Amino acid sequence: MTPRQAIIETSLEMERLDLTRGASGNISLRTEAGFLVTPSGMPPCTLKPEDIVEMDMDGTPAGARKPSSEWRFHRDIYAARPEIGAIVHSHPPFGIALASHGRGIPAFHYMVAMAGGRDIRCAPYATYGTQELSDYAVTALEGRLACLLANHGMIAAGKTLERALALAVEVESLAEGYWRALQIGEPVILSDAEMDVVIEKFKGYGANAQSSGG
Ligand code: 13P
Ligand code: ZN
Repeated sequence: MTPRQAIIETSLEMERLDLTRGASGNISLRTEAGFLVTPSGMPPCTLKPEDIVEMDMDGTPAGARKPSSEWRFHRDIYAARPEIGAIVHSHPPFGIALASHGRGIPAFHYMVAMAGGRDIRCAPYATYGTQELSDYAVTALEGRLACLLANHGMIAAGKTLERALALAVEVESLAEGYWRALQIGEPVILSDAEMDVVIEKFKGYGANAQSSGG
């Protein structure tokens, strides 16, 4: 599968998984000179390989389509985080419910450590597509592979598209769990020390899945 086809497949999968609806959300994949990103405002089912936009790290696009309005945060995350190879952004139902309160996801469940740290932060609100939003996102992602964006959505990243998508699924599932837990009061939050133990354990976890290409 070509990288362009892999991006389209991931877009379709995001829709199947109810991580995104209609044209909202966007996906990118790092290349040698920059990155490939979904075009702005096109529903996944309409995408053809030539619609995916190639961009350099200055933000110059190649091809006929306008790049995602969020190309800045895709570009800035790749620039700040050499270990990241793919990024997915979406507006999933439970993620946006929490983000509409400006709430991130604290350590109410140990799986929060899948995003790389003791919590999953929520970046402050800024207008979509702006440099301000990109700056907030890069900060919220420090030491993490996922964050929420206030009154907007979620970003998940990884070495590969498969890993970024898998993390997006996990974060949405955690957002749902936290949202449900909040219905009956404030859940117990795991201590920093316990989360550090889990973060350490996760370093050797999932080796089976990763060696089979995840
Ligand atoms: P694009 O269609 O321009 O990628 O925008 C969708 C979106 O989610 C903006 O935040
Ligand atoms: Zn968005």
